[in-house]
Amino acid sequence: MSKPESTGGRLEGRIALITGASRGIGAAVARRFAQEGAHLVLTARTPGALEEIDDEIQKITGDPATLVPLDLTDFDAIDQLGAAIFKRFKKLDILVGNAGQLGTLSPLGHIQPEEWGRVMDVNVTANWRLIRSIDPLLKASDAGRAMFVSSAVGRTPRAYWGTYAVSKAALEMMAMIYAAEVEITNVRVNLINPGPTRTAMRATAFPGEDPDTVHTPESITGMFVELAEATCMRNGELLVAD
Ligand code: NAP
Repeated sequence: MSKPESTGGRLEGRIALITGASRGIGAAVARRFAQEGAHLVLTARTPGALEEIDDEIQKITGDPATLVPLDLTDFDAIDQLGAAIFKRFKKLDILVGNAGQLGTLSPLGHIQPEEWGRVMDVNVTANWRLIRSIDPLLKASDAGRAMFVSSAVGRTPRAYWGTYAVSKAALEMMAMIYAAEVEITNVRVNLINPGPTRTAMRATAFPGEDPDTVHTPESITGMFVELAEATCMRNGELLVAD
């Protein structure tokens, strides 16, 4: 399919990396960014699901995404991802650190060490490894924009949500420190709390909930676009969905 004429979207020509793009919030952000004219680098573990999102994106824009199936707990693969983006694009304009795992909701004393480690690896350490790998590429952009997806429990203690809540609190502190470090550069770093959103993770956390009572992933993509725009000067802020 030939590439359509420029749509004049808010992210026209920007190169965006989205983690956890195979479903849920990450997939909705990918579709929206494509509509806004961005070229997408999409990651998750499930190649088939990434390919389905890419089919949808190509129908919207005619521009195939760059698909990078990887497990974010494979930290060497994150380094290789940064190197590959540098080789192909020489820079990255937008990083969306969205991938996350809930873990099992249970009392702190009952959490299995392997699970604690896995949730911390995906929700915290992988995002630090992304910063480590991608920071030079964001700085090579005229307006590098990074955003990380947190949760209300990162600030408000909730019984039985231990691993997830601690990981999101750590993620928020890390993003705030990164924001402080890049204050004098072209890079801006912010956080998003999407609020209760109709995804597989939400259904696992609240199995008895009517999904129609919470908002859709599509309805919150505007916050991501705002923080991704080159004109957005916010830094070190947390945006919360209505
Ligand atoms: P989701 O539907 O479960 O999607 C999670 C995404 O993360 C999937 O694309 C998954 O892809 C990817 N992922 C998980 N583990 C991975 C790993 N080891 N390596 C690579 N990718 C991995 O969840 P969601 O609700 O869209 O959540 C997105 C973000 O929003 C998360 O950070 C979550 O904490 C946050 N959040 C969600 C809500 C809500 O109500 N939904 C509320 C507050 C915050 P694969 O399985 O294909 O790897």
